[in-house]
Amino acid sequence: MKEIKYVSTRGEGGKVTSAQAIKQGLCSDGGLFMPDSLPLLTPEYLEKLRGMSYAERAANVMSLYLTDYTYEELLEDCEKAYSAEKFKGGCAPIKATENLRILELWHGPTCAFKDMALQIMPRLLSRALDKTGEDKTALILVATSGDTGKAALEGYRDVDKIKIQVFYPVDGVSRIQKKQMQTQGGNNVCVTAIKGNFDDAQSGVKKIFSDKETASVLEKNGYFFSSANSINWGRLVPQVVYYVSAYCDLLDSGEISLGDKVNVCVPTGNFGNIFAAYLAKRSGLPIDKLICASNVNNVLTDFLNTGVYDRNRTFRTTMSPSMDILISSNLERLLYLAAGAEKTSSYMAALAKDGKYGVDPDVFEKIKESFIGGFCTEEETSKTIREIFEKYGYLIDTHTAVGVKCAREYAAKTGDTRPIITASTASPYKFAPDVLSSLTPDVPEDEFEAIDALSALSKTEAPAPLASLREKTVRFDRTVEKEEMTREVLRFAGIE
Ligand SMILES: *Cc1c(COP(=O)(O)O)cnc(C)c1O
Repeated sequence: MKEIKYVSTRGEGGKVTSAQAIKQGLCSDGGLFMPDSLPLLTPEYLEKLRGMSYAERAANVMSLYLTDYTYEELLEDCEKAYSAEKFKGGCAPIKATENLRILELWHGPTCAFKDMALQIMPRLLSRALDKTGEDKTALILVATSGDTGKAALEGYRDVDKIKIQVFYPVDGVSRIQKKQMQTQGGNNVCVTAIKGNFDDAQSGVKKIFSDKETASVLEKNGYFFSSANSINWGRLVPQVVYYVSAYCDLLDSGEISLGDKVNVCVPTGNFGNIFAAYLAKRSGLPIDKLICASNVNNVLTDFLNTGVYDRNRTFRTTMSPSMDILISSNLERLLYLAAGAEKTSSYMAALAKDGKYGVDPDVFEKIKESFIGGFCTEEETSKTIREIFEKYGYLIDTHTAVGVKCAREYAAKTGDTRPIITASTASPYKFAPDVLSSLTPDVPEDEFEAIDALSALSKTEAPAPLASLREKTVRFDRTVEKEEMTREVLRFAGIE
């Protein structure tokens, strides 16, 4: 098998192994790691995957990209990460309505799709520390708009030689998400709210990562920084798996034949999940269009329609908070594939300086070949939840609703009848008050009563990890200014 090395989207810093890329998170020049070549998912390979369990499919697909990990190592890790105990409802089951094939990615411990990557990522990091001979403790910093934080905390809790600090925007996450994080167990975790929005949290974390002084203080104390955000390559590869697996499942159900193209629709924030689907496409998975679905923070919709990325606009808080993002970090990886490192560097410099950039016409053409941009207003989100429930008795969350609206709109506009694999990214119970208010005017003030009411109305059961939150006690209730984030990190590391 061909060895794959990792390079920066901005062109500096040489080549490293995937273990090094996972350990490091961000490249030294501020760019993101990308493979120096892409493996091929041939039809024969897909045929071989059909007969396998999800864990086996995951180990197989990941081994194509992580060539310095052995198949045996990956299989051992995947079997633990994707066990029936961790994913009680199955890893990535498909529910069908209209020409949508809704890929339920939220059956893991925190009820959102981030578990798909964050249950396996700590194991990849743990092996990376061994493989690279690292003896310091990894200090993981996470900026979250809600779901990543909890999923990372759950994935990394009590893992040896790793500590994790999570920052979230104090008014930018749902009440249930906040309770999930504030009650987190484990001896190596810290959770802090900041006064600001998600972009403030993400910029703050990026700033700490590139601050040489803080890094040197930490190093003297036996630590080094690592990231769990979706900019880490270790997050992306596990996400490629479920698109491949969904394709195999559609082959199994006889809905498509080997080689038939499908479309994919992803409710998008940081552009990680949809980029994983694009990677699968570039590696040969028969995908035609990728529908990028945004809420009213529709900076990506505008980019895909005009070629100009402009974050200078009002940030809006919506009922799909995990997509309330104006800087979609992983878009840089798409730019790199479409335009190369030199142009990507200049686009990113313009973004940092002016908050905007326009891509060259040839780059824009390439991107438009695969991507369609759509968005969904708050009213449309509610309306979609209501329609899908009334027509099919099927409950979707606020993020998934954004995807479903854009997928249906695409099909209606174009007459394209291909199946659309639509990522369902969270359990409806994780956003119970907003899902409920889309169905009925009677919404209890208390979030747990909203869960009960949603359960009664839909005659479905709330997932156990959410139902049991009620009894848990808050461990972390600090809120700091965004300028105080570095200090918070040092405090947690026991340095200040
Ligand atoms: C993180 C998240 C998204 C956005 O995924 P990206 O990879 O950031 O584009 C969508 N929905 C939910 C529920 C999420 O948690």
